[in-house]
Amino acid sequence: MNKDRVSRELFDDVMVPNYAPGTIVPVRGKGSRIWDQDGREFIDLQGGIAVNCLGHSHPGLLSALQEQSQKIWHLSNVMTNEPALRLAKTLCDHTFAERVFFANSGAEANEAAFKLVRRYAWEHTGAEKHEIIAFKNAFHGRTLFTVSVGGQPKYLEGFEPAPGGIQHAEFNDLESVKKLISKEKTCAIVVEPIQGEGGVMPATKEFLQGLRQLCDENDALLVFDEVQSGAGRTGYVFAYEMYDVVPDILTSAKGLGGGFPIAAMLTTAKVAASLPVGTHGSTYGGNALACAVAQKVMDTITQPEILKGVKLRSDHLRKGMMDIGERYGVFSEVRGAGLLLGCVLTEKWQGRAKDFLNAGLDEGVMILIAGANVLRLAPSLIIPEADVDEALKRFEAAVQKLTANQ
Ligand SMILES: *Cc1c(COP(=O)(O)O)cnc(C)c1O
Repeated sequence: MNKDRVSRELFDDVMVPNYAPGTIVPVRGKGSRIWDQDGREFIDLQGGIAVNCLGHSHPGLLSALQEQSQKIWHLSNVMTNEPALRLAKTLCDHTFAERVFFANSGAEANEAAFKLVRRYAWEHTGAEKHEIIAFKNAFHGRTLFTVSVGGQPKYLEGFEPAPGGIQHAEFNDLESVKKLISKEKTCAIVVEPIQGEGGVMPATKEFLQGLRQLCDENDALLVFDEVQSGAGRTGYVFAYEMYDVVPDILTSAKGLGGGFPIAAMLTTAKVAASLPVGTHGSTYGGNALACAVAQKVMDTITQPEILKGVKLRSDHLRKGMMDIGERYGVFSEVRGAGLLLGCVLTEKWQGRAKDFLNAGLDEGVMILIAGANVLRLAPSLIIPEADVDEALKRFEAAVQKLTANQ
């Protein structure tokens, strides 16, 4: 045996036990296929949790990375660099935004957004206006501020005291927001247009439009966390277009780098002015290699045929999953948008999402879960149609075995 070979068992000996990875150790990927250490092949409907938006080893991303790697990798923010400036321009050209702040992860982009909304209100109104309204079941990252704004108390357990001035309303319930909001105290509403980790739960159009109106009436900023829903995932460059609601601040990460760590906070010139020199920063933010890769991602996913392709693949995958759901009585609903889909388990299968994930692996298809009752699919935006068919075939075989044993 190769002496360099490491196995899953080593994880327990050398890693902090905060994750529970599966037994498979993937070593290579091409398009929407992945191979493990033993050469077993899988179809990837996980997409690195909505990250690998152009699949694995995409030729365009490979050459962008290789080309930039031979020029310059990193400069810090003592100097700017060409890839960062180009990418910021591209992000502004394709969105409502006029200013960009680069970070390295979704949590960091959100941290910047949450600091900015406080600072903006502090500057324009005063320190009293510092309350952030967020939503139950929301997910915004794992730093102490972002996990506090997130709406899953179990993620805060044992980490208190948490930052104050954060309130949680009910998602898709405007009345619950009206009870909390005030012109004197509320500085921002923070929301995911589609709650990802919280079970692939889309906001309604009326809800997001209502939040926009409430923000306007109360001089509060509207922040869309599009870390999961952005970068082409819904068949729009960002999901806010689908809802016809323009936020004041938008955060992007995950798919933005197609697998290279990068994040961005987008905003208007007026709001951005509240982060003047010295008020915030990040050593790696705007890293030249990361920006060069993200540039290729943006140049690709903004093409109309790519976005149209997302909608076609979405219809195909959604219909296939609904058919399986009907044949085996396992799903009550398939929800979400574009290639961020959630298959909600029926009463009989409550709490069993992980069993479906494992059954899928046995048949050579990788799916995600979002909580114990929802299966989540977030494949490459350019997954070949033939791979969708094959994935559905394999997943049906998995469901057949799982349901036959009951
Ligand atoms: C994944 C995710 C985050 C956190 O991103 P990290 O890169 O893990 O810090 C924040 N918000 C949403 C909506 C996410 O899906």
